[in-house]
Amino acid sequence: MILKSKTAVVTGSTSGIGLAIARAMAKEGANVLINGFGKPEDIEKERAAIEADFGVRAIHSPADMTKPAEIAAMIALAESTFGSVDVLVNNAGIQFVSPIEDFPIEKWDQIIAINLTSAFHAIRAALPIMKAAKHGRIINIASAHGLVASPFKGAYVAAKHGVLGLTKTVALEIAQDGITCNAICPGYVHTPLVDGQIKDTAKARGLSEEAVVRDVILAAQPSKQFISFDQLNGMVLYLASAAGGGVNGAHLSIDGGWTA
Ligand code: NAD
Repeated sequence: MILKSKTAVVTGSTSGIGLAIARAMAKEGANVLINGFGKPEDIEKERAAIEADFGVRAIHSPADMTKPAEIAAMIALAESTFGSVDVLVNNAGIQFVSPIEDFPIEKWDQIIAINLTSAFHAIRAALPIMKAAKHGRIINIASAHGLVASPFKGAYVAAKHGVLGLTKTVALEIAQDGITCNAICPGYVHTPLVDGQIKDTAKARGLSEEAVVRDVILAAQPSKQFISFDQLNGMVLYLASAAGGGVNGAHLSIDGGWTA
């Protein structure tokens, strides 16, 4: 129970990696604020399951990660409900694939807002609370695409490289405050986000979904296996724990050798 009675805020946690991280933190005793979109009944089911499965409290904030005031209100809600914000996981993210010259301008703006700028707003709102407590952990979910590029993912790659720059800057600013700020760079994890890419690519290239997974999605991932939620959660919990206290400003790859 390394997070007993701590508070964790995880953005984009109604699905995929964020939901898995929120559940892993709750399992370690944290009260959690989950965030993200979805059908209200599905979100309520996930929220209630966290409370029932792990005996902690869980609340949902519908804050839209493109809206600075809603992000600040989300952090304030966590503090007013639970009394602190000990761990902030900036995870919300979307993908869009297109050659640069056809890239819809509004998609570029949306990806930069959700995948990069929302982390700035959440960190900006959480830091005064963490500084007052002299304790905090900020974990930014970047991507292998924070370190290397792939064609047609201009906005995503730019945003994820930006997340690493933000991570390093914040790390230097809070290095003496009992706070750490790090980024995790996962390779491919089989989530709804990736499932959409598999289906779209299969349709666009006239390939089976198995062929897309093997030859397209995992082409760059030498292990030829998706990264599991457990593998990601292990790193997240390490960074959130006391043992991870000496790691600051780092980007940690969990990518099956992709960026080796
Ligand atoms: P996902 O689509 O399963 O989940 C995304 C979450 O973000 C959902 O809860 C969704 O509701 C939420 N969200 C989307 N737009 C939002 C907005 N405007 N405001 C609030 N919430 C919003 O995606 P995932 O695969 O779990 O990805 C999570 C993070 O991990 C992303 O930052 C992604 O870039 C990163 N990542 C994913 C992979 C992968 O292979 N899946 C690899 C590396 C990095």
